[in-house]
Amino acid sequence: MKKIDAILKEIYTALDDQSLQSGLQRTLKNLLPASHKVLKRWPYLIKLADEVRKIREETLKNLDYYIDEIIKNVESINGKGYFAKDRHEAIKIIDEIVGNDRKLIVKAKSMVTEELKLREHLIEKGHIVYETDLGELLIQISKDKPMHAIAPAIHMSREKAVKLLKNIGVHVSEEMSYEDIVKGVRMFLREKFINADVGISGANVVAADSGATILISNEGNIRLSTILPPKHIAIASIEKIMPTINDAYKQALVQAGYAGLYPPTYLSLTAGPSSTADIEYHRVYGVHGPKEFHLILYDGGRSDAIKNQYLWEQLLCIKCGRCQAECPIWDLVANIWGGSVYGGPMGIVWTAITEDIDTAAQLALICLGCGRCKEVCPMKINMPDIIRYLKTYISKTII
Ligand code: SF4
Repeated sequence: MKKIDAILKEIYTALDDQSLQSGLQRTLKNLLPASHKVLKRWPYLIKLADEVRKIREETLKNLDYYIDEIIKNVESINGKGYFAKDRHEAIKIIDEIVGNDRKLIVKAKSMVTEELKLREHLIEKGHIVYETDLGELLIQISKDKPMHAIAPAIHMSREKAVKLLKNIGVHVSEEMSYEDIVKGVRMFLREKFINADVGISGANVVAADSGATILISNEGNIRLSTILPPKHIAIASIEKIMPTINDAYKQALVQAGYAGLYPPTYLSLTAGPSSTADIEYHRVYGVHGPKEFHLILYDGGRSDAIKNQYLWEQLLCIKCGRCQAECPIWDLVANIWGGSVYGGPMGIVWTAITEDIDTAAQLALICLGCGRCKEVCPMKINMPDIIRYLKTYISKTII
């Protein structure tokens, strides 16, 4: 358990970290107005968010049914579906799919794989792993934790990013423009995409009626990671389930809008391995896309949280990151105020669900209780109430 004095020490260190402060303040100038502009221009997203909350509430009440449906339906699209109760089970499934001999693996950014510490595990097993989202690649090189649900390297200055990229052999320099730095990364990763044995992604949403996953991306890395390698493994936490493809699209649009990235450049639906029946209508799997599609549904504390009268509501979260950007504490130190994966208002509660409630309760003591997180949340999650519950939880353990 992380204690309040250790948390405060981390926060004070972050406040004195000039590189973190300048990176964060530069990013906030762009991040904060982004979702306001989107919602002003496309106000239908606000109504859609209300609709999505209602569907998600109903889905959570029948989660076991939808998990079974997905596993059955993934098989019907010639993929393989799995359920993993905890990290141990998830890692075992992934190891079996990836195999023991050394593989080149390209990864799309995914918070659930951060929960699993999957990249670190695969590297330890001897595989070569590259994060393909630029922000997440910077996190991989710096060995930091992601600092925001959508933009993981939000705290990093341009100067630091260049230095880190040079360390792994990307041809970039301090004098280069932003555009040329990105071009250097593109050249570096392109060859990895082409030669990769396995592509690993998360899933923004999974549709129970088909087992199809939906992924949102702006860089284009997710399409390349999930289409070019011969095997695609998608890992989705169980609260990401929506009943139908139509519902799943609605949620993806709301997430992109409230993250301030609207319209999303790419919205990719994957329903099984690639195939063709163009010769005599004989079905062959593995054409230009993967030959194998594996979908792992990961619990990791969620089904216990559903039973808690306060924590259950956080399972409605679509991880848009808006509550983080609008939080006065998060704006100063980003995910330094958080557990090992999640930070900020939503992060405190996700830490209670996915790590341990004692650490989350200690983190909750820092919260000012201003209530902005609830006001800006598309799912109207009552985070101030949940955080109050966590504060009460710790006071009971002290008395
Ligand atoms: S709690 Fe709400 S605002 Fe925060 S990340 Fe989740 S959905 Fe977005």
